[in-house]
Amino acid sequence: MAEPVTLPREFIDQMVAHSREDVPNECCGVIARFAEGRLKLYRATNAEASSYRFSIPPGELHYLYRTIEEDGGEVLVVYHSHTMSEARPSPTDANFSRMLEGPDDWPYWLLVSLAEDPPSVRIWQMSDGEASELELVAGDLPADSSMVQLATSGEERKPVVSETAIT
Ligand SMILES: [Zn+2]
Repeated sequence: MAEPVTLPREFIDQMVAHSREDVPNECCGVIARFAEGRLKLYRATNAEASSYRFSIPPGELHYLYRTIEEDGGEVLVVYHSHTMSEARPSPTDANFSRMLEGPDDWPYWLLVSLAEDPPSVRIWQMSDGEASELELVAGDLPADSSMVQLATSGEERKPVVSETAIT
């Protein structure tokens, strides 16, 4: 049995809040892990603005990978919401994860389902398009962890991405 995944309670609450705010659309974002176990949650924009699918805009994706790598971190979790279906990766999600699979372990996929009340939050490991569920444990917030909202401005071909702290 795979190890359970522990995420701060504050982050789990934040992902549920983000999911609710973006109704009727799916929301999406990323959690990165840095040295000494510091975590950072990034609320991203759903470029699809859709109830059925999500994608992180290329400018934000590029920003995320660049800034996280520069800081010596790694993407730990990619999260998104399902507004009407269960918190399990859809066939579209599975295809997407297969496309993104690299030599390293692809990050965990976390899904928030608003189809249930209270919302359900489940975490998955994707491998070759197959999803295996892991146990999600709510834990404490590691020191110096933070949460930010990403926003994109500027021209489409030269997007400027900024982050604002969520307090
Ligand atoms: Zn999905």
